[in-house]
Amino acid sequence: MAARQEKKLAEERKHQNMQNGTKASQGQWGRAWEVDWFSLASILFLLTFAPLIVYYFIMSCAQYQCSLTAPLLDLLTGNKHLSDIWNRTPTLTYRAAGIYSLWVTFQVVLYMSFPDFCHKFLPGYVGGVQEGAVTPAGVVNKYQINGLQAWIITHVLWFANASFLHLFSPTIIFDNWIPLLWCANILGYAVSTFAMIKGYFFPTNAKDCKFTGNFFYDYMMGIEFNPRIGKWFDFKLFFNGRPGIVAWTLINLSFAAKQQELHGEVTNSMILVNVLQGIYVLDFFWNEAWYLKTIDICHDHFGWYLGWGDCVWLPYLYTLQGLYLVYHPVQLCTAHALGVLVLGLLGYYIFRATNHQKDLFRRTNGNCRIWGRRPEYIECSYTSVDGTRYHSKLMTSGFWGWARHFNYTGDLMGSLAYCLACGFEHFLPYFYITYMAVLLIHRCLRDEHRCSSKYGKDWERYTAAVPYRLLPGVF
Ligand code: NDP
Repeated sequence: MAARQEKKLAEERKHQNMQNGTKASQGQWGRAWEVDWFSLASILFLLTFAPLIVYYFIMSCAQYQCSLTAPLLDLLTGNKHLSDIWNRTPTLTYRAAGIYSLWVTFQVVLYMSFPDFCHKFLPGYVGGVQEGAVTPAGVVNKYQINGLQAWIITHVLWFANASFLHLFSPTIIFDNWIPLLWCANILGYAVSTFAMIKGYFFPTNAKDCKFTGNFFYDYMMGIEFNPRIGKWFDFKLFFNGRPGIVAWTLINLSFAAKQQELHGEVTNSMILVNVLQGIYVLDFFWNEAWYLKTIDICHDHFGWYLGWGDCVWLPYLYTLQGLYLVYHPVQLCTAHALGVLVLGLLGYYIFRATNHQKDLFRRTNGNCRIWGRRPEYIECSYTSVDGTRYHSKLMTSGFWGWARHFNYTGDLMGSLAYCLACGFEHFLPYFYITYMAVLLIHRCLRDEHRCSSKYGKDWERYTAAVPYRLLPGVF
């Protein structure tokens, strides 16, 4: 009954918006209400090619020692047919299906059944029940922040198994890498499709749904803002963080174990990739409460982009460096290794410090110190769908006075460091920095478009005060 009423409300909103032909105006920020041809073309491209890109990269490693050109050359010269490549690709196996089901179930249990304990004894860690940002419909969701705990339990069990339980080999992930890819795809498509159906028939909050009327756009970018099952199973928090990001460090450990098994040593490049990406992952879980205020949770709707992306794209393409190093065990000279380490740590410092400055500034409503001084800011306001007027502040000092997204700059420096750890023989490990540059520049433009709709003239004052996006004086 309630679900039917909510759907009716959603339908009314959809019609209202279609009749008004509204563009996102102040009070209706968030992802687009209307789909231009460029967005539609990009979406169709991604829906078609993103799964093929993932397959191509993983297959190139398995069959062509990570060369991206060799499969193409083979096909173009007629040396091989598509069917030859396909026939050599491992299929879905019962073993992989079992491992993957167990993995996802385990993460669901850790997420749902173990309220956070870490915040009770870890000084400075924010966990337990936390509030998210105000949604466009004026809702404030509560989240159970227990990702750090899930990550720690999972890794303690992993090391316990590797050291003395020996229930399975630490190379288990590498050994089932392609069969697991099929499982991840099944989950990614299932959850995105379910989210779409749910958005139409039983949304969690109908006022936060967006229908553009374009099936592909809605499937890709999502209808529901914060889909949930029951009170606590939040799709965005679960799928963004676990199973993908918890898996990230395990996948790298499995690659290191495989390198040891095949080559009799773990190279310094593999250690660097494990350490630098491990810091990034641990940082993510340490700051999971802060993550509630990032674009993924605050502004993106939950569709294929997040559902499939978190299940497939993230665990398979963010870990390409480790996979590459299994096939090409690069031992770096000391200067190169040190250079990578310094770049990675500096990038991480900038990324974390910039994010921390904004978080502190917003949490204290500007009553804090940034680099020893009271922060400078621009007062701004916006209106939610129900007409309520809210006030906010945009900081113009600290790293936020250098550029409007200096956190992305730090992230890009760290991403480049992972790639540089793999030497210069192949392009494949450099896909990550290429992708991150596109993702973050696009994200930057997307966010600015949204902020401009949200804050109007106040945003113009802000961009006049901080004119650069990523690099002061350049862009
Ligand atoms: P931000 O954390 O930069 O958040 C942007 C939002 O912050 C804006 O929408 C606005 O929200 C608010 N804001 C913007 N300028 C200011 C300011 N001057 N003062 C105060 N608030 C401001 O972006 P993301 O959520 O995209 O990124 C968070 C982190 O996650 C980044 O470091 C990024 O590098 C990383 N990331 C990593 C990815 C990966 O795949 N590895 C993917 C995406 C992000 P409001 O409406 O509240 O004003």
